[in-house]
Amino acid sequence: MLNERAYALGSNRSAIRDLFEYGCARAAVVGRENVFDFSLGNPSIPTPEAVHTAIREVLEQTDPVELHGYTSAVGDLAARQAIADDLRGRYGASVSPGEIFLTCGAAPALVAVFGALTFPGAEILAIAPYFPEYRVFVEGVGARFAEVPPDVPDFQINLEALARCLNEKTAAVIVNSPNNPAGTVYTAETLARLGALLARKSAEYGHPIYIVADEPYRELVYGGAAAPFLPAIYPSTIVCYSYSKSLSLPGERIGYVYVPRAAADGEALYAAVAGAARNAGHVCAPSLWQKVIARCAAVRPNLAAYDRNRRALYGGLTALGYEVAKPDGAFYLFVKAPGGDANAFSEKAKRRDVLVVPGDDFGCPGYVRLCYCVKYETIERSLPLFRALLTD
Ligand code: PLP
Repeated sequence: MLNERAYALGSNRSAIRDLFEYGCARAAVVGRENVFDFSLGNPSIPTPEAVHTAIREVLEQTDPVELHGYTSAVGDLAARQAIADDLRGRYGASVSPGEIFLTCGAAPALVAVFGALTFPGAEILAIAPYFPEYRVFVEGVGARFAEVPPDVPDFQINLEALARCLNEKTAAVIVNSPNNPAGTVYTAETLARLGALLARKSAEYGHPIYIVADEPYRELVYGGAAAPFLPAIYPSTIVCYSYSKSLSLPGERIGYVYVPRAAADGEALYAAVAGAARNAGHVCAPSLWQKVIARCAAVRPNLAAYDRNRRALYGGLTALGYEVAKPDGAFYLFVKAPGGDANAFSEKAKRRDVLVVPGDDFGCPGYVRLCYCVKYETIERSLPLFRALLTD
């Protein structure tokens, strides 16, 4: 006897993985440079040199037992202090290390937070388009996953639709900005209106509705855009952060949860996050990486290569007549599928060795996602293919 849900999750591969593996198989046949793989969001800019310097320093300067030993479950004080200082420096927020919980990236951070917020019958809302793993994480902790329809074509937040989704069972709303897959950044005005709505509904239902701010793309913003600091807008915001994208470290697994003391039941909530993480097998975030973050919490990426790709792909596709959501952040473009059927368009594109992900799994049929963590030449050489796809 096996756990059926676990079996289904382990044996059903995602559309993104399928496409990626198809791309690898095609590369063996036609050559890697002839596969235009826009499927997978693997950071392609190098990890900042300051991070590599910090690794070397940590290896040389730290007692070997301390270097590889267990840390406290919440994380080393030095790393939590560095993160708190960085948040205070950037946003003027009075953050203390006691509000920071270090995790193995954003994914386990989200699982811990969802676990902490789930009461019997609880629902957690995601705003379409959304990262498909949210459903897995929410259902995995026993909550109900519900989705707010997308705000087409701008991909801000459809607040009227969101208001209709709220009810007395709503525990939290996930806010992911900059957004995967749309590449949009929610404006301060959108977020202020969301905060006002949630404050009103929390009072009406007699319990807090939290915002879970999933922010692995926080630093990846372009052209003067900025992701507003949500706890300053809505105090009952829990931030899940990751260094996977900002420092190009996705395989190293380091991130954190910030539970503001000013959030409703803030102190108990921090303990509940620690408890839910423990329940999921968390022991501590990787010790070496905690020590690196203690030195590098304020290091920012050089986004020039992503920005160049973004402008080339957005400019190129819109010039061809494609409808594309304005990409102010992350490293994705969300493109309306010509003809309206994203699966058909993705299949058609595959025949030209162009790999784009249909939006269905993101809760937004009719659109395809393109990840532009690719070589600039890949973008240049793909544009004639996108032109041909319009008449295929
Ligand atoms: N949230 C979003 C929106 C993502 O796109 C990803 C990864 O792609 C994650 C969370 C998980 O990030 P991590 O590598 O930190 O677990």
